[in-house]
Amino acid sequence: MTRVLKFGGTSVATPERMRQVAALARAALDASPLVVLSATAQTTDRLHAAARAAERNDGRDAEAAVHEIVARHDELVRGLFGDAVPRSLSDALDEELSALGRKLEGVRLLGELSPRSLDSIVSTGEFLSTRIFAAWLAREELDGEWFDVRRVLRTDPRHGEAEPDAAAIRELCRRELAERLAPRRIVVTQGYVGATSGGATTTLGRGGSDWSAALLGAALDADEVQIWTDVEGVFTADPRIVPEARSIPELSFAEAAELAAFGAKVLHPKTIQPAVERRIPVTVRHTARPDGRFTTIRAEATSGRPLAALASRSPVTLVTLSSTRMLDQAGFLARVFEVFGRHGASIDVIATAEVSVSLTVEADAPLERLRAELEPFARFDVVPERAIVAIVGERLKRTRGAAAKVLAAAGDCHVELISMGANEINLSLVVARDDERELVKRLHAALLGPPGG
Ligand code: ASP
Ligand code: MG
Repeated sequence: MTRVLKFGGTSVATPERMRQVAALARAALDASPLVVLSATAQTTDRLHAAARAAERNDGRDAEAAVHEIVARHDELVRGLFGDAVPRSLSDALDEELSALGRKLEGVRLLGELSPRSLDSIVSTGEFLSTRIFAAWLAREELDGEWFDVRRVLRTDPRHGEAEPDAAAIRELCRRELAERLAPRRIVVTQGYVGATSGGATTTLGRGGSDWSAALLGAALDADEVQIWTDVEGVFTADPRIVPEARSIPELSFAEAAELAAFGAKVLHPKTIQPAVERRIPVTVRHTARPDGRFTTIRAEATSGRPLAALASRSPVTLVTLSSTRMLDQAGFLARVFEVFGRHGASIDVIATAEVSVSLTVEADAPLERLRAELEPFARFDVVPERAIVAIVGERLKRTRGAAAKVLAAAGDCHVELISMGANEINLSLVVARDDERELVKRLHAALLGPPGG
């Protein structure tokens, strides 16, 4: 049995944080830990900037970005090792950085940046952070090794947004990685990065390290995938809006997915799905407060949850289509959806009446193109600057009068659209953007206020 611990960019960006990460890995020693790291904060952005600058033959900007990367990593290494930087580490870093320099120079000379070259360049951040961390573990006399994740994290060749091949990853992990994992030793590897069967470096898309952690955890039948970040789990509401919001001990996968879709700062559901599917719990924890609260996401949560959590998202646009002639006719909605689909406008909340249908789309949806196609059939009204406030919880479906409570709490916040999600765990309200914060506060106080309060 192994345990996957994933640390994000801010968790590895300073010497102090990296020492904390080492302490957390040490605490997991008995669980045969696999540590998955992101690049240090902002490094991936800087690598992108360097690659783009090289592509437009802007050597100055490319150099400036690389200089920044080198300076930040230098600071990190000095802060950890002082003057006693191990030779093997400085060699490894030099090798990564000079390869980076050659790749950027190649891009600049050719004036061309293919997705494949970009992946090779932007993956550098994870190689740097893991090299430094592995050296630090050795300094702390912890047994373990640095592992190149490309040996196991097989993907298709869609560079920049590569699709992992779960079956191949499982097989490769069994062959290449499983035997390296053992109690009392720490294996360190890269998030975000993968490789094709031909050996080309790929990346899983921005923020992809969580996905890497879940994929590796699933492939290795881990007992837990820990996502260490800078929040104490998932909160009952955005604490910037509701100061008394609190960390939720347990969420089901469906709840987490709904919350993420409606704007909560939760892991993207896709990223944790590989672990949840294999019934491996995923926990969200605070690197600087390891003894604090955290959230466990499971396939089905059973207990320890509040009624629900709140999430909200804005701006969205409310579109209402009305027609006395067409709406009750078979195929009208199909036609509406077809047009929205063809223009890439994804619909979030929808409610229908006898002669109209209202729905929300992103604020940047191509409204004029949609209007041009749909106006021949129906009146097309647009109300911008709306917000979706979603109440999410498995217990909603078993709570009598939940909707009444919600509407009573909304009070004079004018609700323009209300929709109970088909899975009955999501009640969404659409309001003017000006009412968003107030509505979230009122709902939190009414539904999620402190017990007895
Ligand atoms: N370093 C990558 C990024 O910044 C992946 C990650 O942080 O998860 O997008
Ligand atoms: Mg991240």
